[in-house]
Amino acid sequence: MRLPVRTTCPYCGVGCGIVANADGTLAGDPQHPANRGRLCSKGAGLGETLDDADRLLQPEIRGRKAGWDEALDRVAETVSRTIIRHGPDAVGFYVSGQLLTEDYYVANKLMKGFIGSANIDTNSRLCMASSVAGHIRAFGEDIVPGCYDDIDVADLVVVVGSNMAWCHPVLYQRLAAAKAARGSRIVVIDPRRTATCEIADLHLAPRAGTDVVVFAGLLAHLAASGACDKAPAQPLAAGFDEAVEAAREAAPSLAETASVAGLAPADLARFYAWFATTERTVTVFSQGVNQSSAGTDKVNAIINCHLATGRIGRPGMGPLSLTGQPNAMGGREVGGLASQLAAHMGFGAADIDRVQRFWDAPRLATRPGLKAIDLFDAALTGNVKALWIIGTNPADSMPRAARVRAALQACPFIVVSDCWPTDTTRLADIVLPAAAWGEKDGTVTNSERRISRQRPFRPPPGAARPDWWMLTEIARRMGWGQAFRYRGPADIFREHAALSAFENAGRRVFDIGALAQLSDAGYDQLQPVQWPVCIADGPKEARFRGRQRVPVDTAKARFVATAYRPPAQAADEAWPLTLNTGRVRDQWHTMTRTGAVPRLMAHCSEPFLDIHPADAGRLGVADGGLVRVESRFGTVVLRARLSHGQRLGEVFVPMHWTDRYCSAGPVGRIVGAAADPVSGQPELKATPVKVTAIATLWRGVLVRRAAPAPPGMPCYWVRIPVAGGQLFELAGSEPLPSGRSGEAWISEVLGASPAAELVIYADARRGAFRYASIVGDRLEACLFIAREPAGLPAREVSIAALGRRVAAEARLALLAGHDSAGSPDGEAGRTVCTCFGVGLRTLYRAIVERRLASVADIGSALQAGTNCGSCVPELAGALRHVKAGTAL
Ligand code: SF4
Repeated sequence: MRLPVRTTCPYCGVGCGIVANADGTLAGDPQHPANRGRLCSKGAGLGETLDDADRLLQPEIRGRKAGWDEALDRVAETVSRTIIRHGPDAVGFYVSGQLLTEDYYVANKLMKGFIGSANIDTNSRLCMASSVAGHIRAFGEDIVPGCYDDIDVADLVVVVGSNMAWCHPVLYQRLAAAKAARGSRIVVIDPRRTATCEIADLHLAPRAGTDVVVFAGLLAHLAASGACDKAPAQPLAAGFDEAVEAAREAAPSLAETASVAGLAPADLARFYAWFATTERTVTVFSQGVNQSSAGTDKVNAIINCHLATGRIGRPGMGPLSLTGQPNAMGGREVGGLASQLAAHMGFGAADIDRVQRFWDAPRLATRPGLKAIDLFDAALTGNVKALWIIGTNPADSMPRAARVRAALQACPFIVVSDCWPTDTTRLADIVLPAAAWGEKDGTVTNSERRISRQRPFRPPPGAARPDWWMLTEIARRMGWGQAFRYRGPADIFREHAALSAFENAGRRVFDIGALAQLSDAGYDQLQPVQWPVCIADGPKEARFRGRQRVPVDTAKARFVATAYRPPAQAADEAWPLTLNTGRVRDQWHTMTRTGAVPRLMAHCSEPFLDIHPADAGRLGVADGGLVRVESRFGTVVLRARLSHGQRLGEVFVPMHWTDRYCSAGPVGRIVGAAADPVSGQPELKATPVKVTAIATLWRGVLVRRAAPAPPGMPCYWVRIPVAGGQLFELAGSEPLPSGRSGEAWISEVLGASPAAELVIYADARRGAFRYASIVGDRLEACLFIAREPAGLPAREVSIAALGRRVAAEARLALLAGHDSAGSPDGEAGRTVCTCFGVGLRTLYRAIVERRLASVADIGSALQAGTNCGSCVPELAGALRHVKAGTAL
């Protein structure tokens, strides 16, 4: 492969361009319109994820290594037999927004056109299915009318249910730059005070699940204040009167709206006044809106306000949904959700006929298939008997994770294709090794409908292969080789583009027909382009340009009357707190990629429960103390963090950690699966829970070279990859074993071999015990036990010594360590700036001692914030905390 290669980031829906350079470095692509050269901390750390050490390299059949032919034959035979015996609906695919559009297209065609079922759903169901459903209800098609440039020129940007600063950082930086350049106002609507709020002019923290009320109140206000009358002269979309009537019912007065949403009436009134009087208004939203049992109504409540004021599809105006995954949009385009057919066509008779003829499909699915929650339920009850999971980890990421794992165990045949071992591959009958980012070749579409090439710049390791190849090979083995005769992704892309234009004639906005004529070389060189890209757009030069905004056809658009429904399960006396879940800045999904990078782990190395200090005080929960978090679905033990950013009565847990990284396992273990009745998207942000403090008898730190958690771990442990090995934070609520069983436990935890020399320091009176396992003069592992965190030494010393020669006279000194003030992060504190390794304590000290007054001052003094910029909101937060005297 000839470098440099221009490709696209595999993380979030911003879709930043990346250049893989000949010297092995990666950099932001200055020519890519989504990021113009910028990358966030995750994107900037991608080079550190290109390590094949933990990769799946060969197909496996029930744990036995196998060749591709044997594995593929087994999959094809079993799926064919399942169809013959039980019908096509006994087969399912569960795919991913990580797939490239070409992979997605082949999977969808195979399932819906040839297997004959629509049982293909995607983890995007958990991410933005409510946006899809809301767009279809409002526009008749899944159209995102706006684009990123709108953020640059808007006068008011309303950010709803989105911590852009951490989840879409480069777009957030554009928003911050727009505010700095033109003074645009920013309103953040989020129950938590997140990093995004650092640039907000107004933060509204509504009660969980009340967004419909907030936007119903806004629509009622717009109607009452005459703001709707100023809409541009075009026919108003249908349903306006009914929508306003429903809004007035949901939000009869400002006082009642504020009361239901738990907001100050004056704050709400200010937001309504700003929205009513600001022509150039963009509303950005993401998972906080979508992941709800009323998610589709929330989306429509937002869109209603833009339709009512005509602020849509014009510069600086419109609703803009942000997708979580790099190719959630590509999946929507091909029809990779069970509720769509293909290329923005549904299950109407004309669409079924059209797609059947285009694919020459022997048995086209004629009705929607099972959505994610129902698909795994069907696997549990035996209705789905063969399930192929591609590029996703539902054993951790799905709500009611224990039930999903039971389904994977109950289902007779599970195939998983992935790049790394996960808690899902562990439960598979057949594991297929997939090509990863940097090796795959195809396209992705970002949140603003921009199609970009993801190009390979390294060969796949071992026997790993692209997903489209595996799917095509299965189709061929099942007798459909003629319809899947693709030589490579360019063939697939041309067919996908041709289907989008097939008998379209302006009926469907998703039309990339002009790209169906690309040569192989043209596909290789394809520049980022927004759809639609129609043949009808005119001469060759113009038709590849695409349209930045989609003008909304008000004849097709409609208002949707939205009534307020509280979360499906409300907190009550038994389950008094509402659990919200979400992301942290430097981790991605279930950490298969980012979890292996020590630099990214440094920002937030342990899972946690954020709780308001007043709730914590009532429950006897201390900052850093252990808590048991229980719901109707399960229990996890986590470390508590006291946070004034939480609403009273609401708690937050990040979604990333799994059984591979901590004793708590995935938060999905305690999250409910109540789904939106329209979109089928589960409510991941409002599960009633109770929280109980756990008395902790001892704390521990284990540093060892080997990765897996050793047997005999206590009730709380977290594994944190560090340079040269693994750091485990431990805590126990039971006394440690003593005597011989204590010795056996220590050997087990240290992983000490018979050849190991054990160095011991014990002070029983203080409850301090320290052990080092030395093999051939080199440090293999250390274990430190203390009653309190302050009794543990700084971790850096033992991490630095791991795997190195430790002279006999230095061994006791190693165990003595020096006091870390109880922090796993040492003197510097938790890392805030991963680019320059600046910790929070260092930051606070520098602000105070060097009288730093701005983010620019911090940059000059410590370099923090001067590279990728992802930490800038936290730097601003640190300044605010020091000023307010709330720095911890
Ligand atoms: Fe990747 Fe960060 Fe850009 Fe998202 S914002 S695409 S994670 S570099």
